[in-house]
Amino acid sequence: MTPETALAAGVVMVAPVVCVLLLFVTAPYGRHAREGWGPTLSIRPGWMVMESPASVGFLAVYLCGEARAGVVPALFLLLWEAHYLHRTFIYPRHLRGPDGRLPWVIVLTGVVFNCVNAWINARWISQSGHYDDRWLLDPRWIAGLVLFLGGKAVNLQSDGILSRLRAPGKTGYHVPHGGLFRWVSCPNYLGEIVEWGGWAVATWSLPGLAFAIFTAANLVPRALAHHRWYRATFSDYPPERRALVPFVL
Ligand code: NDP
Repeated sequence: MTPETALAAGVVMVAPVVCVLLLFVTAPYGRHAREGWGPTLSIRPGWMVMESPASVGFLAVYLCGEARAGVVPALFLLLWEAHYLHRTFIYPRHLRGPDGRLPWVIVLTGVVFNCVNAWINARWISQSGHYDDRWLLDPRWIAGLVLFLGGKAVNLQSDGILSRLRAPGKTGYHVPHGGLFRWVSCPNYLGEIVEWGGWAVATWSLPGLAFAIFTAANLVPRALAHHRWYRATFSDYPPERRALVPFVL
């Protein structure tokens, strides 16, 4: 077992504990923000600080790997950075509404997770994974790539719909419509989970699987909390809409 797969196994073991914890204690930002979580910082720089290890740190670890010039590792790098450069440097600029606050405890927890996650995944793809060019014809790569890109498209579309709900400078929440909001309250989270599920399949690795499981452990409880909040807040909330998975959850 390599150091990154050992650490990935640790992430897999911690994920159910985090999931149960988050079912009882909703992370205090956005509509679930509340007092008592210590010092905070502005949400836009908060996102940038939190996500930087996943974008910049991943690249640094990747470039230290012996397989950094390989075609398949480079494609994995491209997929990863397409997500994380956007999440770190572009997504925060598109946030609308009041200048929300992120507790430092959330930011620092995110930094620690992103450091671990970036290291295990970057190290795997550029050092231990040993992918040669034949991987591009493997059904796992093809299926994983389709899932990754499909999930990313849903995530981007849904985050876009949410960001347009508020006119510039306006506050408050509205019932979102369009895209997969027709069926679920949190298609952005669904897209994110499918995306990293696709990464796990495409890389066929324990680090990839660990990330997909941890993403679900983080976002399933939050989707349930958002859904409860929508139902309690809007009396005309579409009754057929589920929290995360159409017709199921
Ligand atoms: P949310 O859906 O809670 O919020 C996204 C943005 O849309 C916020 O600016 C929010 O404002 C605004 N918004 C949401 N709902 C409404 C509404 N009904 N009316 C008006 N504005 C609304 O997502 P998160 O902030 O939790 O996550 C953002 C992105 O990060 C998502 O793509 C998510 O998938 C990803 N993410 C990934 C994680 C992972 O583990 N991989 C973990 C957490 C997030 P406000 O802030 O004021 O509520």
